[in-house]
Amino acid sequence: MVELDAVNPEVISLQSVSKQYGNETVVSNVDLNVQAGECVVLVGHNGAGKTTLMKLMLGLTRASSGTVEVLGGNPAFNASVALHKTLGYLPESVAFYEAMTGREVLSFYARLKAVSNADCEKLLELVGLADASKRRVGTYSKGMRQRLGLAQAMLGEPQLLFLDEPTTGLDPILRQHFYQLIDDLHKEGATSIISSHALNEVEARANRFIIMKAGIVVACGTLGELYQLAALPVRLKVSVSPGEANNVAQRLGSDINIDRISNQSLNLNCSNKEKMPLIRRITELGDSISDLQISPPRLDEVYSYFMSDDRS
Ligand code: ADP
Repeated sequence: MVELDAVNPEVISLQSVSKQYGNETVVSNVDLNVQAGECVVLVGHNGAGKTTLMKLMLGLTRASSGTVEVLGGNPAFNASVALHKTLGYLPESVAFYEAMTGREVLSFYARLKAVSNADCEKLLELVGLADASKRRVGTYSKGMRQRLGLAQAMLGEPQLLFLDEPTTGLDPILRQHFYQLIDDLHKEGATSIISSHALNEVEARANRFIIMKAGIVVACGTLGELYQLAALPVRLKVSVSPGEANNVAQRLGSDINIDRISNQSLNLNCSNKEKMPLIRRITELGDSISDLQISPPRLDEVYSYFMSDDRS
């Protein structure tokens, strides 16, 4: 993840944006501001409205109400090539003409965006398809199609990339390669909005997360902010000398919350507020403690918290 400077220009601004299809509201009253250089990840169950939100930002569908501003204008009312060159989109299911070669497919999209063929060659190289560029897409694996899709999205060096479930169907090595490409784009200043179900993958990669449920943004923030909001417990694993665990538990006091105790370790839970005082109490025990591991709540736990109906 690329760390952001304090203030970057705003590239996306959504105010009270809603989208209805017939009587169904699929995106409801969304406010969102995205700074240049951010990597924002949209998470939520199928049908939560993530793709629709992306399409609203891409200008592929119009808001029923509210204001959409992307790079200073509403892309739904601006069909200029110049604007669309600044936006890259990898849809959830990429479908290309099977009979065309990878290079022909990319050249086709390059012409739509008024991008040179030389750029196509560079992109095919970048996504690792240079050797396969003269093969028909019909012979490509899922991973190769996805990489061709990414090359298509990257045509024209877009300032804003929208990637809908970009790693679905990719094996772990290709996923890593894919995220490396995205990281490189971020280092060059790109902004990305990624929709994903792969919470463990995106956890360390995003500056911010937007959790959507039935068209509503139920939470939005950095992982740290979401931890605070959800107030989920922090886990500590304290390793001790063999046979010392009960003794250490006694010395820590009866108010600590022990999840599990074994011969050589104690698993403790505490709130974020209690974390530092507890760490101090543990370290005061000196040589009895051989190791201490601190695990904040994971994104999937934070996600489950915000998706549950019975949270207070
Ligand atoms: P997600 O990307 O989170 O899976 P979508 O944005 O694709 O969710 O869909 C949100 C809801 O909007 C779903 O109920 C879907 O059926 C509905 N929807 C999406 N596109 C259309 C459309 N063109 N016409 C009618 N309903 C649609």
